Amino acid sequence: MLPLGRDRRHFDVIVIGSGVGGAMAAHLLVHAGLDVLMLERGSRVARGPANWAPDAALELSPHFTTAGHYRVRGDDPGVAGTFQCVGGPAVFFGAVSYRMRVSDFEPCPEVVGDAGAEWPYTYDDLEPFYARAERVLGVAGRPNTDPLDPPRAGPYPFPALDAQGPAALIWKTARSLGLRPTHLPLAIDFSGAEGRACERCGTCDGYACAVAAKRDPSAILPALERRGMTLLPDTVVVRLLRHGGRLTGVVCVDRHTGRRTVFAAERYVLAAGAIGSPHLILASGLHSSSPARAHVGRYLMRHCNGIVFGLFPHRLEGSREFHKQVGIMDFYGGTRGMRRLGAFSRSILRRPASCAHTCRSGSATQRTRSRTARRACW
Ligand SMILES: Cc1cc2nc3c(=O)[nH]c(=O)nc-3n(C[C@H](O)[C@H](O)[C@H](O)COP(=O)(O)OP(=O)(O)OC[C@H]3O[C@@H](n4cnc5c(N)ncnc54)[C@H](O)[C@@H]3O)c2cc1C
Ligand code: SF4
Repeated sequence: MLPLGRDRRHFDVIVIGSGVGGAMAAHLLVHAGLDVLMLERGSRVARGPANWAPDAALELSPHFTTAGHYRVRGDDPGVAGTFQCVGGPAVFFGAVSYRMRVSDFEPCPEVVGDAGAEWPYTYDDLEPFYARAERVLGVAGRPNTDPLDPPRAGPYPFPALDAQGPAALIWKTARSLGLRPTHLPLAIDFSGAEGRACERCGTCDGYACAVAAKRDPSAILPALERRGMTLLPDTVVVRLLRHGGRLTGVVCVDRHTGRRTVFAAERYVLAAGAIGSPHLILASGLHSSSPARAHVGRYLMRHCNGIVFGLFPHRLEGSREFHKQVGIMDFYGGTRGMRRLGAFSRSILRRPASCAHTCRSGSATQRTRSRTARRACW
């Protein structure tokens, strides 16, 4: 933790977590002129040729840990591993920056049941915010190529690349089958407009970018620090302090020295992720004052990755270059034989425990009806 003077214990806003949510909130707050402190339990990710090595990927990266701070109870108990670094797991993300579809905001009866749960806003309400986020991320895309592409008030900030190498072949073949392939909107700086240009390497999804051309939060935060935001890496928030109905501070521990510090602010943004945020609420005993109460920390749903592999009979030109460019959305709304994707996923996920075990290693599918631990640890 950087040494901060006594007068630097109080800020306008404290943002907990430097992932996508925290970085986007901080972007607005810093540009509004507020004095922001961002607290992040992970460290900064070094950039260079080492990021291209096989052991820099996913769970092999030193920024992934199963050090045991999130214990999962329920149907599929275990330990939930996480990425911890400045920028959060999105440093390793695939850069695909979709907006949710209009239909995603309509309640799906098979998921909602008789709970009456609905999104409190529609796609139209969110459209200006999606546009702003795409500008911050510098998303390169091509509008209206996707059959379910939601309406947009303006173009993408940058144009998409033409499909190349295997992506071009997949595109052509999909068209010949009557499908409607689309360009994935990518938060990647292909032109060098925001810094160093993408080198179109073969290790993007699952790796931190060696040249920092991926527009993940770690690419956005340095500019916010230059504008005055204080970012403290290796600083774990272990407790949210409350007096009456207001938060009065956050208790932090320096991961290297073990030193405890309390920071306070006028406002707090809890952006510690789908596990980290409920974990802190429970650890701080704040769930009883949330309208969700006993539901805080439950019903976590994780990525559903159904993976299909195919082999080309010979090596394709450009196969070792970046080619994650094509999406096929024709089945997103369901097909005649299958209903919506959510319902489809549910049937996959009712598989024997052996499947869930594989999933913990990140290779397939996992759904965890879970309850995060109440113990605050670091
Ligand atoms: C390999 C991979 C590929 C992906 N590809 C894509 C993709 O192509 N497109 C897409 O849209 N999504 C993708 N995702 C998902 C995407 O990265 C996540 O949805 C997104 O990062 C979630 O953002 P968040 O802000 O909610 O939380 P997070 O990004 O998880 O941020 C939470 C941050 O809070 C920190 N934190 C947690 N607890 C504490 C604490 N107590 N004190 C201090 N700090 C704390 C964490 O270290 C973390 O940095 C991918 C994810 C992975 C892992
Ligand atoms: S493809 Fe481009 S953005 Fe992705 S890791 Fe390689 S250089 Fe970085």
